[in-house]
Amino acid sequence: MVEDLKEDSFDIPDDLLDSIQHNIENIIRTFDVPEENKMEVIKQINYMYSRTKYLSLTDELTELPNRRCFDNEFNKEFLRAKRYKNNLTLVMFDIDHFKHVNDTYGHQCGDYILKQVSNAALQTFRQTDTVYRVGGEEFMVILTETDINQSVIPLERFRKTVETLYLEFNEQKINITVSIGACQCSEDVTTKEQLIEKTDTALYEAKNTGRNKLILSTCL
Ligand code: GH3
Ligand code: MG
Ligand code: MG
Repeated sequence: MVEDLKEDSFDIPDDLLDSIQHNIENIIRTFDVPEENKMEVIKQINYMYSRTKYLSLTDELTELPNRRCFDNEFNKEFLRAKRYKNNLTLVMFDIDHFKHVNDTYGHQCGDYILKQVSNAALQTFRQTDTVYRVGGEEFMVILTETDINQSVIPLERFRKTVETLYLEFNEQKINITVSIGACQCSEDVTTKEQLIEKTDTALYEAKNTGRNKLILSTCL
């Protein structure tokens, strides 16, 4: 699971891209062409830029922020938590036996389930907590201002919500569960990779001890 989260080769920071975009706009303003033409070109470039940016950070199927977005945001949140000693809990969840769902009901049904589980996650967590689709049926949640004990209530609520989710595809009723791992950014976690690793280990433990459960890294 964790090996999916490797470094991205396209590595221009978001802030720098925004500033390049801003400079292009300034260059166009200096062109010796009618003002309304300039404005039209700037408008189109702005539209293309924001659309491209949205697509590069969004998962097409679920419309959740994607792994690239997770990498950017998690980096910032981790640094913030370390610097200001804020509570931060990282969560990883994975749909149980999802291959079996695809094999039994078809890939389209699998896609439908991914969307429903994503919607359930969006409705369960606070707006300040962000849910990301980081792989096929693997998701991350960054719980800001939340310690590991406070994370149990929303995570258990989410686990039960998925367990009882009403899912129907081609007149077939389907039941789904998720396994969840969580780890708090505590003193002994010094790098963001360590926090991901510990969270991944907790998820692995949830998978190995029966699935459809939440494992906290502190319990390992
Ligand atoms: P476990 O309980 O151990 O997590 O088992 P699993 O079957 O969920 O895990 P496994 O890694 O064996 O299979 C994941 C499956 O997810 C296989 C792949 O076909 C499916 N999958 C990945 N991305 C998508 C997608 O975008 N749509 C659909 N329908 N299926 C997907
Ligand atoms: Mg799975
Ligand atoms: Mg998986």
